[in-house]
Amino acid sequence: MKKLVLIFIICLMVSVFMFAEEILIGFSMDNLRLERWQHDRDIFVETAERLGAKVLVQSANGDDAVQLSQAENLIAQGVDVLVILPHNGKVMGSIVEEAHANGIPVIAYDRLLMDCDLDWYISFDNVRVGELQAEYLISKKDSGRFFLLGGSPTDNNAFLFREGQMNILQPYIDSGAVEVVGDQWAKDWLPQEAMNIVENALTANNNEIDVIVASNDSTSGGAIEALADQGLAGKVFISGQDADLAACQRIVEGTQSMTIYKPIKDLATQAAFLAIASAKGIFMRPNGYVDNDLIDVPSILLTPIQVDAVNMYETVIMDGFHGLEEVYKNVPKEQWPE
Ligand code: BGC
Repeated sequence: MKKLVLIFIICLMVSVFMFAEEILIGFSMDNLRLERWQHDRDIFVETAERLGAKVLVQSANGDDAVQLSQAENLIAQGVDVLVILPHNGKVMGSIVEEAHANGIPVIAYDRLLMDCDLDWYISFDNVRVGELQAEYLISKKDSGRFFLLGGSPTDNNAFLFREGQMNILQPYIDSGAVEVVGDQWAKDWLPQEAMNIVENALTANNNEIDVIVASNDSTSGGAIEALADQGLAGKVFISGQDADLAACQRIVEGTQSMTIYKPIKDLATQAAFLAIASAKGIFMRPNGYVDNDLIDVPSILLTPIQVDAVNMYETVIMDGFHGLEEVYKNVPKEQWPE
């Protein structure tokens, strides 16, 4: 059976490869501020080009109106398929009708497009991301004062992460073991927003916070700066996501407890294949469906990985996502993994 699947995948890859030459892909991205989105873009473009396709990338710098007009422009330029990483999944959902009217399939990349007749969604299992974050924190501290630091309210993923976190935390909250001392969401996932939120939370709680449930590494970075100002960095358990280099460094240095490593290479590579296959009308099998408030969108959902100082080497580093020297650069050499 495994052999058959492998043969099928190889045939698919060969057929996609052979016929990709004339495909033009439009990739509309929220922003390129975050380290991870630059990885996504580079791998996506490299893979698509290796397969013979051309990619037009547009980044909207977090502005909905700009992203909409850039996507319209890509449609006008005659792309064969539109891949969208939305800043605001609700706003960008409106582009799907226009794309379809021009015979262009649309793929939501990493973040879902809401309330529209979307063709595909490719991402990680984002509820699972939230569960892995909370499971880790609870394994370190299963009672005490928890602060919930959500992501951007315009990003559907932020709600999925929270859903996953609550799947784990709710029983502890119900039993009274965990007290939620605050819950705020950082606009656009900005570190500065997260820093301000945590600064205020520390003041309001007389610095008595045991755990910060942060949804990604950019916000945990801001939160840790606020903790450091109070001499609390490394004393408060705090989660993250993306395995950003700075976060991996904080983890091995002891100021961040964990991150979630999402192999961007798999996501971006598979998205490039999916884009070419969709443009060519080649059948692809989803491994799940995700409700976008209008339809159950055929989806490809990849598996996220929990990372802390203990398995940093065998995950992020062995995978070549970051180098050993980069991650451990501020740690004395005798403490580096063998
Ligand atoms: C992504 C995260 C990322 C965040 C901020 C989310 O939609 O899934 O990986 O950290 O956006 O850009």
